[in-house]
Amino acid sequence: MPGPATPPAPGAGRFAPTPSGDLHVGNLRTALLAWLFARTTGRRFLVRIEDLDRARAGSADRQLADLRALGLEWDGPVVRQRDRLPLYDAAIDRLAGQGLVYECFCSRREIAEAASAPHGPPGAYPGTCRDLTPEQRAARRAAGRPAALRLRAGVETWTVHDLVAGDHTGPVDDLVLRRGDGTAAYNLAVVVDDADQGVDQVVRGDDLLSSSPRQAYLARLLGLPEVGYAHVPLAVNPHGARLAKRDGAVTLADLAVRGVGPPAVLGVLAASLGLAAPGEPVTSAGLLARFDPAALPARPWVVTADVLGAGPGQA
Ligand code: GLU
Repeated sequence: MPGPATPPAPGAGRFAPTPSGDLHVGNLRTALLAWLFARTTGRRFLVRIEDLDRARAGSADRQLADLRALGLEWDGPVVRQRDRLPLYDAAIDRLAGQGLVYECFCSRREIAEAASAPHGPPGAYPGTCRDLTPEQRAARRAAGRPAALRLRAGVETWTVHDLVAGDHTGPVDDLVLRRGDGTAAYNLAVVVDDADQGVDQVVRGDDLLSSSPRQAYLARLLGLPEVGYAHVPLAVNPHGARLAKRDGAVTLADLAVRGVGPPAVLGVLAASLGLAAPGEPVTSAGLLARFDPAALPARPWVVTADVLGAGPGQA
């Protein structure tokens, strides 16, 4: 007789910053949400440093220190993508074994020009190199063009379920798996990593909603489990543009200099999410009981110096 069924291993949520500079309050708000979603659903919360591409020295360590300062503790070791290159290679090999990978010799410019072709979704790769003959490929290689590897996609769209956006159907094209310089592409790495780390809940900024159909489709081709998504509204500046560091004092370090310490910033983030009254002292743990995904603000968070408590005109 089999024993009582073991409960399924709890899944995980994650925050996956690119270490290209300090996190700003918009990034920190997304991190807080990812932490709240994970912790209120019994999941582990993981942090992954996405350093395949742009990594600035010291940036990952400062990002981790900022998460800690806000009380967003994570489980297990922090994973860094640069330590995991064989995993990405293995995934590409698996796709190649199914005949789903081809070399692409197009330059960015050629793609931009060809992407205005009448077929396919706007901005999608038009398939220029998809059906090159072996002779054409050999000629391009001989010309010294480094080839990227692309997925031979079998669908034009894919649908994901998003806790915020609902069912979202978006374009899938022959996305890049490995860039011409040999670096694994973001879309591939994120899918491989999430599955490898047991992530089944992806909470991130809604600028990535349009990438999710490509990623979910790729996961399906790789035989990896589906993840649940929650793409959350971004922080914007008073002009409605996505918040950036040039918008002023928007990092923990900047705000600390102006006398707004991490607890006050956590309070501001909580208030922006309707989880606290303005100025109310809060702790990350104290927010868990208040968090209700259904009550998430649907609109972007407009960040002004005033909102940050840094005084008008200073941020
Ligand atoms: N590394 C990406 C970023 O910082 C996030 C990727 C993800 O959450 O899937 O924008």
